[in-house]
Amino acid sequence: MPAPNAAAPIQTHCPYCALQCGMGLRPQPGSVVEVVERPDFPVNRGALCGKGRTAPAVLSSQVRLTGPLVRTHATGRLEPATWEEALARIAEGLAGTRHTYGPDAVGVFGGGGLTNEKAYTLGKFARLVLGTSQIDYNGRFCMSSAAAAHNKAFGLDRGLPFPLEDIPRTGCVVLVGSNLAETMPPALRYLTELKENGGTLIVIDPRRTRTAEQADLHLAPRPGTDLALALGMLHLVIAEGRTDEEFIRERTSGWDEARATAMAHWPEHVERITGVPLPQLREAVRMFCAPEAAMVLTARGPEQQSKGTDTVGAWINLCLATGRAGRPLSGYGCLTGQGNGQGGREHGQKADQLPGYRKLTDPAARAHVAEVWGVEPDTLPGPGRSAYELLDALGSEVKALLLMGSNPVVSAPRAAHIEERLRSLDFLAVADVVLSETAALADVVLPVTQWAEETGTTTSLEGRVLLRRQAVSPPPGVRTDLEVLHALAGRLGWEKGFPTDPEEVFEELRRASAGGPADYSGITYRRIVEENGVFWPCPERPPHPADGGAEVCEDASLDVPEDDPSGDVHAGAGLVSQATGPHPGTPRLFLDRFATDDGRARFTAVGHRPAAEETDAEYPVLLTTGRVVAQYQSGAQTRRVAELNAAAPGPFVELHPRLADRMGVAEGDPVAVVSRRGRAVAPARITGTIRPDTVFMPFHWPGEGRANTLTNPALDPTSRMPEFKVCAVRVEPAKAPDQDGDPDRDQSRNRNRG
Ligand code: SF4
Repeated sequence: MPAPNAAAPIQTHCPYCALQCGMGLRPQPGSVVEVVERPDFPVNRGALCGKGRTAPAVLSSQVRLTGPLVRTHATGRLEPATWEEALARIAEGLAGTRHTYGPDAVGVFGGGGLTNEKAYTLGKFARLVLGTSQIDYNGRFCMSSAAAAHNKAFGLDRGLPFPLEDIPRTGCVVLVGSNLAETMPPALRYLTELKENGGTLIVIDPRRTRTAEQADLHLAPRPGTDLALALGMLHLVIAEGRTDEEFIRERTSGWDEARATAMAHWPEHVERITGVPLPQLREAVRMFCAPEAAMVLTARGPEQQSKGTDTVGAWINLCLATGRAGRPLSGYGCLTGQGNGQGGREHGQKADQLPGYRKLTDPAARAHVAEVWGVEPDTLPGPGRSAYELLDALGSEVKALLLMGSNPVVSAPRAAHIEERLRSLDFLAVADVVLSETAALADVVLPVTQWAEETGTTTSLEGRVLLRRQAVSPPPGVRTDLEVLHALAGRLGWEKGFPTDPEEVFEELRRASAGGPADYSGITYRRIVEENGVFWPCPERPPHPADGGAEVCEDASLDVPEDDPSGDVHAGAGLVSQATGPHPGTPRLFLDRFATDDGRARFTAVGHRPAAEETDAEYPVLLTTGRVVAQYQSGAQTRRVAELNAAAPGPFVELHPRLADRMGVAEGDPVAVVSRRGRAVAPARITGTIRPDTVFMPFHWPGEGRANTLTNPALDPTSRMPEFKVCAVRVEPAKAPDQDGDPDRDQSRNRNRG
């Protein structure tokens, strides 16, 4: 890897969301590090949201862990300990459980924020060292439904099959259940540029969000009815003769069945289900079909449902039926949420996957990865439980848990139940940057390094593999996750195979991914730096003779902008000659064929079904949850940043004035939201931008305002994604919440051993 220039800022990326904005870090005397703009990175061109700008605040030893903690038998409290004591206790806890109950009694839970190197090593550690099938990660909660639908329809799952830079050049974007203005503000410029270029924007969201304010057309369906809306649009497309029969004939299969199910969803019926007036539905179809090229982009809104896979499948059907997929500037894409949600599921911390996005049930995949790992294929366990099912099994089938980079006490659905399951474990070890609400329940807490203190790769929502580079030294007493896994593996009998150097891990990951769907074998740290990221798949191929004769990536060969006749292939921001050199990476997928066996995209015949929990007399209102711009996911890091807390100090319940009137609730009054799983209390925020039948709560906070106390863990049958986005609740005035605002309050609490 090229050595950074000591005088220049270290070029790296934000630790938070999947946009993975480029930023420069300049170490400062007296403060940890200064964030500087990095205009050379094409995705954000120097722009950062408040979370990115303030990320160095979490590097401060005032807010983070700087030494291991072990819960003592004498006091029941977490007390400072040496690394030796802490690692020995974890090795004893994991090995003892495995010895007594078998390997599947030990669980591993990872995170979508872990680098590719960490996710890869964690999966290898679980399957080799612990021999357990019980590993999954919180990325299952993020976009697994879109991933499942991608795989079904296209034979490959990459969040966006095209780079973000294509968005302003298409004709129409349908944004479904995404609030970019709050979740990744620098990406909003792509929508602004789309409109400046004459394109149109349709936003589908039950709330008139700041993103919806930008739209030419905003549809506000009842939560949980996005599937019906997509079917209604497809029905109109067919009825109005707007299908692309040639594309359907040449590049797809399964149309007859999908067509029949769509035709069974009459627009008038869809209007009744969704609450979206029929004229708006017609207008959406007209706008989507008018230009030559168009895109559908989904996010957590349609995905975090018990029918999320089918819902995304219905939006993909709409793209396929109109020829808006597998063509330049057209297609379906998913806006991944977590920083490394994409890479995290490609390299082995998902319950059913091996590195390279290989299937754990595929004998050839097992043989390939086993060879890289130097073991026999039959020693690898099979698929395990999905994230919620794993958490739900804690204390019963799963007795001990190693958790890295996740905070399910705040982020899991039915969170009070999951908190109780965590408390019932025989043994819990957590490696994290801060003492999260989940870490506070652990028997052992290990303090680990974070983004600016370590090097590693992430894969952004575009499928662009990026390098985060170390800019500062971690505090003494803090180790990297790779060092933790190396040390634990050694104590459990694996002296080799768990390197601590991230580049060495990446080199092994390249070999493990070679030939798989997510092939990283042609990507190196050097190339990532020189080319501002490399899009997978990027297989390794030998250098070509200087006189040409190169094999050319078929996908990338189509990636020649009209205004660039040079014949060079754009790979990220760099240019790689087709005639010589390595594979250029694949910014755009599916342009000549889809990744299915026959090269055709597959329609899925899907029909509308209601949410797992409908409203009734006792629970007459719908709850939907989401994020605010100044906080990130469970808030474990961002709630420790003063500037972000000032902007978003706590939870709230957003409700329509008519609903507030009925409840006798005024702005700021404490409101209780009650579901079949529990009760949460937060101040009312009254606004006409939400449907009168729906309330909204952000999910970043613990305590009485914890939104996930209420959410429904009903799972999608394919992706096993919980239904975060819709459940039935009642709303009533409440007494002021006892919100102490202290995320460390559980530090002194002994865990109930159940
Ligand atoms: Fe970081 Fe995402 Fe904000 Fe960019 S948009 S600065 S990646 S949190």
